[in-house]
Amino acid sequence: MTKRILATLLTAMLLCGICALAEVPTQEPTAPPDPTATAEPTATPTVTPEPTPEPGRLAGIKIGIDPGHQRRGNSDRETIAPNSKQKKAKVSSGTEGVSTGIPEYVTVLEISFALRDALLAEGAEVYMTRETHDVDISNQERAKMMNDLGCDLVLRIHCDGAEGRKANGIGLFVNESYDISEASYAAAEALLPRMCEATGAKMRDIYESDTYTGLNWSTVPCILVECGFMSNPEEDQKLNTPEYQQKLAEGMVEGICDYFER
Ligand SMILES: [Zn+2]
Repeated sequence: MTKRILATLLTAMLLCGICALAEVPTQEPTAPPDPTATAEPTATPTVTPEPTPEPGRLAGIKIGIDPGHQRRGNSDRETIAPNSKQKKAKVSSGTEGVSTGIPEYVTVLEISFALRDALLAEGAEVYMTRETHDVDISNQERAKMMNDLGCDLVLRIHCDGAEGRKANGIGLFVNESYDISEASYAAAEALLPRMCEATGAKMRDIYESDTYTGLNWSTVPCILVECGFMSNPEEDQKLNTPEYQQKLAEGMVEGICDYFER
C-alpha cells in the first residue's frame, strides 16, 4: 500500500467517524403495500390524560381589592397625598344601610369576596387589603400595600350614602392630576358600563377628584367603586343579597377583561 493510498483511507475513516453516529442503517427493501390489508385498530388508551386547565382570561394579571373601612374607624390623621400638607382621618367608619341597618364595612367585604372569587375563576392573581373587619389599616397604608405588591389595577370597594333616599346607582371615582389618573380613568370607562349592564343599576358617572387619600397614594391604576346607595332603601336591600353582589362582581370582571383586552 502506498503512502498516498494510506493517507486517503485515513481521511475517509476520519470523515466517516464524524458522521457514523448519524448514519442511517441500510433499510431492508420494503414490500409494496397490500391494498387489501386492513389497518390494525388503534388501541384505546386506558389512561385518560388530565384535561389541561383553561388558563382563564385574566391569567398573569394582578388585581388588588381594598374593601373600604373597617369595624372601628381611626380618626388619627394622615396626609392625603405625597407632597401634600393636607390631612384627613386615617380611615372613616363609612355609612350604613337605611333599611337593613348593615354597616358599609360588612357589605363591601361581602362584595369584595364575590369579586375575589370571580377574578380567581378567570385566573387572575388577587390581593386583598383586609379579609376581616377587625383591622386597623389607614387609607395611605392600603394604597402602599397594593403598590408594593405591584398590582396592575386596584379596586377600592365602597357603598355610598346621601341625605335623601332617592339617590341610587353606580359611580366611579378616580384622581385627576397624578401619573395614574389617565390609566385609572380608562379602566373606569371599561368598568362602569359593564357593571350597570350586569346589575341593571343606574349609571351615574366617573368622577375625578384629588381628595381621596387611597387614590392619591396609589402608584398603580386605582378606582374607587361606589357600588350603590345604602341611603336608598331598595338599593340597600339589593346590595346586601348574595345574588346582587355576584352581579356586581361579574360586571367588574367583564370590565376588567375589557380594560386588559382579554
Ligand atoms: Zn365608603
